[in-house]
Parts: sequence; structure tokens; C-alpha cells
Amino acid sequence: MTVPVRPSARCRALVLELSRYLDGDLTPARRRTVERHIKACACCGAMAARLRKTMAVCRAEGKRRPPRAVMSRAAERIRVLIAREGRRSPVRSV
Ligand SMILES: [Zn+2]
Repeated sequence: MTVPVRPSARCRALVLELSRYLDGDLTPARRRTVERHIKACACCGAMAARLRKTMAVCRAEGKRRPPRAVMSRAAERIRVLIAREGRRSPVRSV
């Protein structure tokens, strides 16, 4: 309660790795770090789930991976979420 969650730095780093993680492109150590984070972090967890779904759809349609625009749009959305989280002050209201 007294310790505000500060997702910004970690989440930002994770966003950069999320698509590579879903691509299976990370080392086992990095994979584990990302996995642990998306389990503990609501915004990254939701984003990972959405990205995974997007990739599954693309795969079902016969494409190897989602178009780059889709991935960057998702990353952009995460960035907005993170920015919103960081701005919200848990102590002050009004
Ligand atoms: Zn996060």
C-alpha cells in the first residue's frame, strides 16, 4: 500500500523484448525473466496475451508472423498503458 508499484522501467524494457519472446527468439534466461514479469504485471500480461492471440491468428491465416505494423501498434499501446500507470499517483487524489 505504501509502496507504489513502479512498472515503467521494467515494463519498457519488457515491451522491447515481448515480440522476440513470443517469437521464441530470446535466450532461456531472458525468456524466464519475461515470463516472470508478465505473470506478475497486469498490463504486460494482458499485452502478451493479446500479442500471442494476434500471432496465433496470423499463423492460422498462413502467415509466418504478424505484420510489423501490428507488432508496433501493440507495443505503442503498451507504452500508453505504462505512461498512464506512471502518471497516476497512488497517494494524492484530486
Ligand atoms: Zn509490466
